[in-house]
Amino acid sequence: MGNSTDNSQHEAGSKRPARAARPQSFYDDIKQKFAEERDLRLKYRPEGTAQYTSDLEGSLSRYAVDPFGAEVTPREPINDTVECLFIGGGFSALLTSARLREFGVESIRIVERGADVGGTWYWNRYPGVACDVVAYDYLPLLDEMDYVPKDHYAKGPEIYAHCQAIAKKYNLYELAVFQTTVTSTTWNESEQMWHISTDRGDHLKARFVICANGTLSKPKLAKIKGLETFKGHSFHTSRWDYDYTKADLSGLADKVVGIIGTGATAVQAVPGLGAMSKELYVFQRTPSSIDIRDDWPTDPNWARRLKPGWQSKRRELAKMEPQLTEEQKAKQAAMSREEKIRRQENANIDAMMRIHKRIDETVKDKATAEALKPWYMLMCKRPCFHNDYLPTFNRPNVHLIDTHGKGITQITEKGPVFEGKQYELDVLIYATGFEVQKTGIYNQIRGEKGLDINDKYRDGIRTLLGIHSEGYPNLFIMGGYQASFQFNLTDMLQAQGDYIAACIDYARRHDYQSIDVTPDAEEWWVQEVIHHRGKTTRNQDCTPGYYNFEGEFQRRQDGNYNGGFNAYCNHLNEVRARMDKHFAFSKK
Ligand code: NDP
Repeated sequence: MGNSTDNSQHEAGSKRPARAARPQSFYDDIKQKFAEERDLRLKYRPEGTAQYTSDLEGSLSRYAVDPFGAEVTPREPINDTVECLFIGGGFSALLTSARLREFGVESIRIVERGADVGGTWYWNRYPGVACDVVAYDYLPLLDEMDYVPKDHYAKGPEIYAHCQAIAKKYNLYELAVFQTTVTSTTWNESEQMWHISTDRGDHLKARFVICANGTLSKPKLAKIKGLETFKGHSFHTSRWDYDYTKADLSGLADKVVGIIGTGATAVQAVPGLGAMSKELYVFQRTPSSIDIRDDWPTDPNWARRLKPGWQSKRRELAKMEPQLTEEQKAKQAAMSREEKIRRQENANIDAMMRIHKRIDETVKDKATAEALKPWYMLMCKRPCFHNDYLPTFNRPNVHLIDTHGKGITQITEKGPVFEGKQYELDVLIYATGFEVQKTGIYNQIRGEKGLDINDKYRDGIRTLLGIHSEGYPNLFIMGGYQASFQFNLTDMLQAQGDYIAACIDYARRHDYQSIDVTPDAEEWWVQEVIHHRGKTTRNQDCTPGYYNFEGEFQRRQDGNYNGGFNAYCNHLNEVRARMDKHFAFSKK
């Protein structure tokens, strides 16, 4: 993650002393323990992804209410036509719009559920919110915006402000419609146009639609018995109630607080909660891996020396494969596949053991330290980076309730119950995550012959590059399944955004009213995805989580393209260079 071209004085001198080689039996024993811990969790949650609900209706509807926007007031429905319409106003929409503007597209509309642009950075305002990808890589369009982030890692408010600045610079507020949810997107074959309906009674038409609804945008709750009976205050981390907690969390000084979940969100929120609550209970099912967060303010001298185009050069550099010597190449070629996998796994276990050691060195109570140790390969879950999370458990007012993989299964009017013990809380915070990568979330997408995209996907997702699906002309999907995975998500979104803008430009230049992927091109990509998914047993081996569909690893063509980001970018370029081969076109 990140690279060493920024503020380089901070990255020197970190050579680790050589460690005596561990016997293979050490690694085999740990792999055995990983498998036991995974099986324990699989046994507790046979329902897989169905253990959660994002259907926040009826008594759960308050968990979806936007606490940040002004009250929604009635407005006249809109009935008009634009050229490009984005469903969602986060980074996907912003960086693709910037490219469309460069191609001279004037008519661009964002339709967004929140009251402003920003997507994930609009919704996630919990205390401590930050991005753990290096800011110079994560924030898109830094060259275009002539902006250098303030720190090595950016905090939520800075990223949100960057989103707003992009929308202003590219004049995206003019046609944007906020506090509005797209409910249906229907292809009109005779007009060769999309018709879009919203929950505000709008009837919009667009030639091109871009599903930019984000990869983790709809909050979800664990289906816990009695959840709705809790009489205290409760909310989801993406709907933080600052009226209740106060901006500086002083509203929690006399409160007993509980948080369910210990993923990347909780890891950032817990230190603030621990410092400000009277008592804090952290209900853990599986611990996250917590590594050092090596942060520093941006060196102004370094920033001043940056030449125009520095970020795109940095992105290109990051994509470059490491150059091997002839000797190294020969060694690799001589190694069997089993040996390569064994070495990778051992290195992964070494990294995890370093994370365990850090816990032992930081957390004073031995039982708590043991409970905080993750027993799975690094990257089975999103790795976390934080300097204050582990020390928070040394506070006398902070209690880790480790549920040994079982999770909280019961909540009463007073709070969660675990192993017969009632935890009486004033406030319960759900850090239970989000619905993952659903195309057209909240929205029914109907393509040619009225076919609902979910019906088309019933036996498995079918796309070209995760972006196009046959029978849905002029529709582009961003951040969806069958696209590549990238730890720095904006790298992926930028690659897709550049590509989508180029496709739209191609259609406009050739006077094509619509473009649709051919069945052959779609089938080729589905097979590519299946081929690369079968290469490792990682999904089976990993502890359940949203990366592996909570253990439903047999979903062959769902999930991401595993051929690597560079290969994915090459495919984007190849398809773009041969549009005639991959698409069918219709003239106006
Ligand atoms: P996650 O889905 O990662 O975590 C949900 C948590 O809830 C897990 O710890 C899960 O346990 C736990 N859980 C679910 N049900 C129960 C239960 N019944 N009892 C106890 N615990 C339960 O959601 P997050 O919001 O933390 O993170 C989502 C993603 O958002 C991250 O993976 C990351 O991609 C992104 N993010 C990125 C950040 C960044 O810095 N770039 C910061 C924050 C979020 P279990 O692990 O056992 O399933």
